[in-house]
Amino acid sequence: MLDLDSQDLESEAEIQISTEVSNENHINVTLPDLPDINEYVHYLEEIWDSKWLTNDGQFVQLLEKKLKEFMGLKKFLLVSNGTLALQIALKVLNIKGSVITTPFTFAATTNSLLWEGLNPIFADIHPETFNIDPRDVERKITPDTSAIMAVHTYGNPCDVEVIEEIAEDKDLMVIYDGAHAFNVQYKNRSIFSYGDISTLSFHATKAFHTIEGGALVTHDLEVEEKIKLIRNHGIDTSLEEVILPGTNAKMNEFQAIMGLCNLKNIEKNIQIRKLIYECYVENLQDLDVKFQKIQASQYNYAYMPVCFEDEKTRNQVQLTLSQRGYYPRKYFYPLTADFEYFKNKSNDLNRKYDLKTATDVSNSILCLPLYPTLSLVDTYKIINIIREVVS
Ligand SMILES: *Cc1c(COP(=O)(O)O)cnc(C)c1O
Repeated sequence: MLDLDSQDLESEAEIQISTEVSNENHINVTLPDLPDINEYVHYLEEIWDSKWLTNDGQFVQLLEKKLKEFMGLKKFLLVSNGTLALQIALKVLNIKGSVITTPFTFAATTNSLLWEGLNPIFADIHPETFNIDPRDVERKITPDTSAIMAVHTYGNPCDVEVIEEIAEDKDLMVIYDGAHAFNVQYKNRSIFSYGDISTLSFHATKAFHTIEGGALVTHDLEVEEKIKLIRNHGIDTSLEEVILPGTNAKMNEFQAIMGLCNLKNIEKNIQIRKLIYECYVENLQDLDVKFQKIQASQYNYAYMPVCFEDEKTRNQVQLTLSQRGYYPRKYFYPLTADFEYFKNKSNDLNRKYDLKTATDVSNSILCLPLYPTLSLVDTYKIINIIREVVS
């Protein structure tokens, strides 16, 4: 037990898995956090008064400042979504040719490379961390390779030190898709302080959200200034000139106030997520299942991935759960390398033979329902259904 003073005891009282019996008959893998509606309305009234809806408004500036402080980062730039954050990262670093990336991710990681006219080269993942395997990255480097785009899968930190060594040695840029990694630390440092650029997503399904939204983190002043230009059409407001081909990636005030409301509850919500996560692990670990090996010194418990013995068992678990109103997701399945539009691509030659671990994990994984308002009753029902099917 932790040492608690009286004040902590008060907040401790709220930090428990919900004991309310939900009358939902459809439990999804996640449910977006919604703040007290009065708080949101209060901010809405301020927006109505100011008549300032977007274009680097006061609430976007305030959220940017608060998030920067919250995660202990020096440079932090909000954008309208996490996919544009990835595209801007590739653009601002002037990445060309081939980029080594993971196939075990959401479509946006791979699609962003295609939108920037780049050639994704897929490296395999590690069987325990589910993150890109640095040794396979090394094997796939060619003279055409200019960057590594890795994902902190389910918020689990990549082998950032090894990746950094490889990148320095081979003169490659490193971009981390940290869409899942809100407030995660590695060796007591924000995971976003690694790499040339890290990106975040604040989509409604993420652990922290602004309805739609995202961000970029860099340490480089010049890169920071360029991102500010790019997200606002390339307009240099001091010169009243467009000085580079930008895009529209501005977060608006309505998104920002959702973020301000959600930020107030984030620490409590992550603690509840942790309790649910630990409840699942404790009650499933004696079965023939595999959990992700977490490398974080501070984690966010954004997802509850579980690998089953094989594809058949995974599918049977999913089917049985869905028949009783629980909808886990095969996330990530299929691998992005197996999307139809990659078939017949020349780099498809390196497919099949050497993405064995990614294929195995993708075929056997399920993300179980996990969100702060998930009830204890539902958590145990899910656990018991899984135990029924697996044992
Ligand atoms: C959600 C997500 C994104 C994209 O974020 P959006 O904000 O939805 O555009 C990118 N990468 C990964 C791994 C994601 O899960």
